[in-house]
Amino acid sequence: MKYIFVTGGVVSSLGKGLTAAALGTLLENRGLKVALQKFDPYLNVDPGTMSPFQHGEVYVLDDGAETDLDLGHYERFTSVKLTRLNNLTSGQVYQTVLNNEREGFYLGKTVQVIPHVTDEIKRRIHVLAAETKADVIITEIGGTTGDIEGLPFLEAIREFALEAGVGNTCFIHVTYVPFIKAAGELKTKPTQQSVAKLREIGITPHLIACRCEKPLDKELRQKISLFCNVPVEAVIEEKDVDHSIYELPLVLQRERADDLVCRVLHLDAPGAKMAHWQEMIRKLVAPQHRVRVGVVGKYIGLQDAYKSVYEAIIHGGIGNDSGVEIVQVDAEELEKKDGEKLLDGLGGICVPGGFGERGIEGKIRAAQFARENKIPYLGLCLGMQIATIEFARNVLKLEKAHSTEFDPDTPHPVIALLDAQRKVTKKGGTMRLGAQPCQLTVGSQAGKLYGSFVVNERHRHRYEFNNAYREKFEKAGFVFSGTSPDGKLVEVIELPSHPFFLASQFHPEFLSKPHQPHPLFKGFIAAAHQQMHKKPL
Ligand code: GLN
Repeated sequence: MKYIFVTGGVVSSLGKGLTAAALGTLLENRGLKVALQKFDPYLNVDPGTMSPFQHGEVYVLDDGAETDLDLGHYERFTSVKLTRLNNLTSGQVYQTVLNNEREGFYLGKTVQVIPHVTDEIKRRIHVLAAETKADVIITEIGGTTGDIEGLPFLEAIREFALEAGVGNTCFIHVTYVPFIKAAGELKTKPTQQSVAKLREIGITPHLIACRCEKPLDKELRQKISLFCNVPVEAVIEEKDVDHSIYELPLVLQRERADDLVCRVLHLDAPGAKMAHWQEMIRKLVAPQHRVRVGVVGKYIGLQDAYKSVYEAIIHGGIGNDSGVEIVQVDAEELEKKDGEKLLDGLGGICVPGGFGERGIEGKIRAAQFARENKIPYLGLCLGMQIATIEFARNVLKLEKAHSTEFDPDTPHPVIALLDAQRKVTKKGGTMRLGAQPCQLTVGSQAGKLYGSFVVNERHRHRYEFNNAYREKFEKAGFVFSGTSPDGKLVEVIELPSHPFFLASQFHPEFLSKPHQPHPLFKGFIAAAHQQMHKKPL
């Protein structure tokens, strides 16, 4: 088994996760079985309790693990199916070590960062290797070299490499080469210093991936090579992509990053066949059609808060050979006078998941606008609850109808706490999480889009449709087209009187990939096209 470790230097948000994922794409297309893993140095057990302001989106796996959004990239770029083993935080490491200590596992010993914490980190790499039986494990270390909290992870991978033996591990350092306007040139000093920091710890990278805005010329590559002790061909340019993150595997292939990795790891694998990927990029760069859709949320300024939603919408575009312009609509702005103007000219409106009261009335207004003006609407989790509240208030005339999450005293709690949640007091990892089966009604729009009647989709919620109101809704033409197999829990709703008004309690965005667009997003974009251009695709 072979191991690749991806570290980051200089600044955060360099796209280490994307680099790891894109390398995974290339290795998979060379016929290798890959597994991807993320180590996060923070002390939270998982990101499930963190605000999107802190952490961006929480990505949910089939097994219900609430994980870092980089795992979303891993699943979108490769065919790997991830589990909770694929995301390790310092919080989990310490939790295990402290539990072990209480069990008496280390009896007689002083429990220390080295070797106990580092051993636990190394154990988690071995566990993943044993579980996946992959040819190559790619482990991304979160944070930036030099962070105090990341040190145990770096020490652990240094030890791991020593134990695995020469030719079995490859270190990739993703760094930043800034362009200084005043000097009119790219600067390598931060890279030199961050590699020096890494070497101080005992890790010498085999490959340095340089994120930059301008091309990295030969001279600069030679300079980085000399100062950082890597062969010049191992200094690779990772210039900002022109159109889409999905170009990255092709960028890395052009720079021969995968060849290099295979050489370091003594892997004899044929070159990656990327024709299908190139065709997908073609659809992204030069699509035959264009469509504009709005995403109504409260974390609109944050690129990462609705990551999977934006990606799934783009995939829906690829599936229709349509370039999608995503208009980010601030839900709170919609609450203001004439707020609806923000929705003008949109082919479709998507209301994604969310928690907390802020912006809720704006989202309800967006759902009403979509329903009344026959604009395609796609609701995701909270977006389904919003569509329900809107229908209750404006069609069923149930005044002040609401979710008990936002108004515990509402006279019409059309959305209420799940039964299983009533006794839950702890916040971490206690929602209804992960893949659950959903049965779709024959002849429904959802059934037609999926082309199947039982689907497994990922969840993350505490509230649900209140069945006491089911009949009232049905009589008014609101269709419950997907439920849990026992029929008790509403999973999908739709309005047959509308060209496309569909919402799910689950999160379809977590299962969409660029070359396998999710059927609900594909359907949504097709409907948005019809709405904008008044003709089908
Ligand atoms: N806040 C809602 C709930 O807990 C919706 C959750 C979500 O959109 N992920 O049910």
